[in-house]
Amino acid sequence: VTIPQLLREAVVAHGDREALVFCDAGIRLTYREFDAVIDRHAAGLLELGVEKGDRVGIWSPNRFEWVVTQFASARIGAILVNINPAYRSSELEYALNKVGCRVLIAASSFKSSDYAGMIRALVPELGGIGEGRLHAARVPDLRHVVLMQDDPGPGMIPFARLQQMASPERLAELDAIDATLDPQDPINIQFTSGTTGMPKGATLSHYNIVNNARFVTDRIALTEEDRLVIPVPLYHCFGMVMGVLGAVSKGARMVFPGEGFDPVQVLDAIEAERATALYGVPTMFVAMLQEMDNRARDLGSLRTGIMAGALCPIEVMRRVNRDMHMEEVTICYGMTETSPVSFQSFTDDPTEKRCETVGRIHPHLEVKIADFDGNTVPVGEKGEIWTRGYSVMSGYWGDEAATRASVNDGWMKTGDLAVLDEDGFCTIVGRVKDMIIRGGENIYPREIEEFLIRHPQVSDVQVFGIPDEKFGEEVCAWAVARPGAELTAEALREHCRGQIAHFKVPRHIRIVEALPMTVTGKPQKFVMRDRMQEILR
Ligand code: ATP
Ligand code: MG
Repeated sequence: VTIPQLLREAVVAHGDREALVFCDAGIRLTYREFDAVIDRHAAGLLELGVEKGDRVGIWSPNRFEWVVTQFASARIGAILVNINPAYRSSELEYALNKVGCRVLIAASSFKSSDYAGMIRALVPELGGIGEGRLHAARVPDLRHVVLMQDDPGPGMIPFARLQQMASPERLAELDAIDATLDPQDPINIQFTSGTTGMPKGATLSHYNIVNNARFVTDRIALTEEDRLVIPVPLYHCFGMVMGVLGAVSKGARMVFPGEGFDPVQVLDAIEAERATALYGVPTMFVAMLQEMDNRARDLGSLRTGIMAGALCPIEVMRRVNRDMHMEEVTICYGMTETSPVSFQSFTDDPTEKRCETVGRIHPHLEVKIADFDGNTVPVGEKGEIWTRGYSVMSGYWGDEAATRASVNDGWMKTGDLAVLDEDGFCTIVGRVKDMIIRGGENIYPREIEEFLIRHPQVSDVQVFGIPDEKFGEEVCAWAVARPGAELTAEALREHCRGQIAHFKVPRHIRIVEALPMTVTGKPQKFVMRDRMQEILR
């Protein structure tokens, strides 16, 4: 089915149930009410001249307007382009031009990001056009800028105006357009997280992401009775596919605690909404567990949820499973390019499988663990994960060379290392790029991270390699201490002594306030690597 069909099914089956709650904005709407907003918005986009296949950029933290734009653009077959809310103007320019955005829909500001100011700096022509069509030198395809603000100033259109622009004629056009939509049409360009470098724009269809959303929420047995808390960014597949489309596919209620991530807000939302399910990347759960040490919480309503996006430390999973009452929590493994999920546990898998592995392959997907020539390795041996099936993207938008380098004969080469056991449970070892080769020994940072995080004063830790003249590479660790803890590099080294092989003991250890992260909360090892080399120079 298409995204509009998915929403329609939810309205038919669960119309009077609450679809979404934005805690900080005080917004609550039923599926039927939400659907009516979407139609008016879609009609407003038509009035702006947006056509099927046009790219509509969205640049905003988690707001109601984000979700409205997600469905309204899909309603008319426009391709939603998720733009990272942490971008600055040069990156915005890159993203808009990379995919030829026709319309940009943006928040006016968030924390230190003055989106409106950055847009005006990039598009000075806005001041001169009133509300006509734009012709801008640096972003030639862009025709309109819509701002989530009532009085956005010259040239920009207030978001709420789109609703008013919806004429009966435009509303009447929607169904005719709907008949032209094909599940295989591209509907979304999602930029990858930029964990390893410049983000790439994966082109995804209705078919790719709607099906994946269904399978993900099947595995956690989500139903219309569930209330799912979504603190992960909407701009990323975790929020918009596994979160929004996943909830809609089951008629569940989405609860958005706030625009950015704040552990206190999330825990408040779980209590206030008596949430049953919770999503997060590992570092979010780490922060929530830490906050629970400060103040006890009643999380008894929680049942399940998903940890994903980066390596999920076993110790953190166990604590989530036990201390957050998420006895049915699962890990998902996937990537933007595969819509995203390919591995996940079932809620009734044994606790150790749910906490220690990423579970088993999703339906209708093939997987192999391959050596560097693409040959399948024996069960129990490490290799690169390759996935093939309905969920693989059609390619990186406008970048055939990059597409050819990662998709071959339908197989997505993930760049991730893993082991499968005899029952098909998969353990992620790390990224091919992050493997450290020190003096001929292959070292997997994950193993050392799992070990270091067991130190009682460590709240978060990352291990990575840097070039070394003698050994080729040398092991480094950055650790964050628990609040109030007196953690030292020496104490960590002592913790390792005699417990792990000498060559795995990090040669350089730094205790840091925070780890460099993407907005999605993924640790950026390439940033740590660069900084560490500078420091040591
Ligand atoms: P970029 O491709 O721009 O460098 P990215 O790979 O982080 O960034 P995403 O598509 O958001 O962008 O993330 C997918 C990656 O996240 C996977 O390739 C994998 O390395 C990691 N990942 C996702 N889930 C898990 C998991 N459960 N365990 C370990 N790693 C995971
Ligand atoms: Mg990637």
